[in-house]
Amino acid sequence: MTTTSSQDLTNTARPMVGTDLAAEMVAKAAERARKLQDATGVQPCLATVLVGDDPASATYVRMKQNRSKKAGIGSVSVVLPAETTTEQLVAELTRLSEDPAVHGILLQHPVPDQIDERAAFEAIAPAKDVDGVTMHSFAAMAFGQPGLRSCTPGGILRLLEAYDVPLAGAHAVVIGRSPILGKPAGMLLLASNATVTYTHSRTRGLPELVRQADVVVAAVGKPNFVRGDWLKPGAVVVDAGYNEGNVGDVHAEEAARVASLLTPVPGGVGPMTIALLLEQTVDAAEAQTARR
Ligand code: NAP
Repeated sequence: MTTTSSQDLTNTARPMVGTDLAAEMVAKAAERARKLQDATGVQPCLATVLVGDDPASATYVRMKQNRSKKAGIGSVSVVLPAETTTEQLVAELTRLSEDPAVHGILLQHPVPDQIDERAAFEAIAPAKDVDGVTMHSFAAMAFGQPGLRSCTPGGILRLLEAYDVPLAGAHAVVIGRSPILGKPAGMLLLASNATVTYTHSRTRGLPELVRQADVVVAAVGKPNFVRGDWLKPGAVVVDAGYNEGNVGDVHAEEAARVASLLTPVPGGVGPMTIALLLEQTVDAAEAQTARR
């Protein structure tokens, strides 16, 4: 006799874990950083720029600096007061862009309201845009050209690749269209021949759209926003959200009953983002050193 316990219906999704893959990427980046330094005396260097004293942003920056150090990547830390103007920030980013000892620049965002964030991002030299925030990097992603990628979307694509998720012809629904996450994630999926639907706060009938997706990327910033009954059985679900208390944008318990693959929060997309930042800093250092 077969019985169906409630347990049979739970946790059917395989976790799409980023931790190990990210550790491998960082180890490879560290090895390349060491080789570059041995061969040329140049240590890859990431400059972080933090404006204001938001504790969460300060923690993120510290974490990125610590990870850099562990990978043998040097770091320069610039901290500017909360009342910094757009002009002052642009001047600082221009200075770092021109400093030959700096290979990558990360402007921690969001920046305070008085700053024109786009103007600040555009002051980062494209060759040093290791966080993939400039229009130049976005265009490369949109044209499917090689180049520096926005770290979270780039990390998501690497994760999908590592788990052999077929993207060509798949319907991908991206929830969120921020310039650093949703929009470039959709562009990279499109470059991988997925059929992409972008959704956002003005989208009508979101659950019905999500139900058509083979691949869902949730980048909303609202805890447990995507529910299990929005998902097509067997869908691949990438939860890019990170909300207070280690809660993602997808209702993990519900989604695990329906999805085939699901990123955990934490340990899914987060580690991939930092790994790509470090990898791209080494890419940038190698490219700049080769040009000199
Ligand atoms: P964001 O700039 O606030 O963008 C949120 C997006 O969600 C916007 O495009 C917004 O639409 C859309 N949205 C809001 N309410 C919606 C609704 N009811 N229905 C559909 N779409 C809705 O956020 P973000 O920077 O992209 O970040 C998104 C999430 O990812 C956050 O949880 C953040 O913490 C996380 N994140 C994680 C990493 C990582 O490394 N793991 C990195 C960055 C961000 P509109 O454009 O219409 O306003």
